[in-house]
Amino acid sequence: MAACIFCRIIKGEIPCFKLFESDKTLAFLDINPLSQGHALVIPKFHGAKLTDIPDDALGEILPVAKRLATATGAVNYNILQNNGRLAHQEVDHVHFHMIPKPNEAQGLGIGWPQQKTDMDALKALFEDIKSKM
Ligand code: AMP
Repeated sequence: MAACIFCRIIKGEIPCFKLFESDKTLAFLDINPLSQGHALVIPKFHGAKLTDIPDDALGEILPVAKRLATATGAVNYNILQNNGRLAHQEVDHVHFHMIPKPNEAQGLGIGWPQQKTDMDALKALFEDIKSKM
């Protein structure tokens, strides 16, 4: 995708602080980090959402995220992947964040609005999703 900023980084048209590269995967520092060491891992295959990416383009993503966590020395960290504007996605090329969480103020801050559990509804939902897996 000519206009995609992460495709342009992959092509070398835009610079980045490259941490890892293979034929299918690229990792680099986030330009507006939430904490020191905040980095992104991306498949070179262009797609906006996780469901747009073939499985074989995703195989290295978690191992590289793990290596980033180790290399930064992060003790507490989040692996995050946003899909869609409502879910806080700004760049429409799939990317996984590795965000160190060194203290309360830095790193990812999230709400966790748990819903009241209705076991019958949960069981019906379970059956529905499981039938599509
Ligand atoms: P998201 O909200 O999940 O789409 O996150 C997009 C991330 O990409 C943000 O954390 C940005 O800081 C980061 N970002 C955008 N442009 C660049 C760039 N040129 N180099 C590195 N990181 C970038």
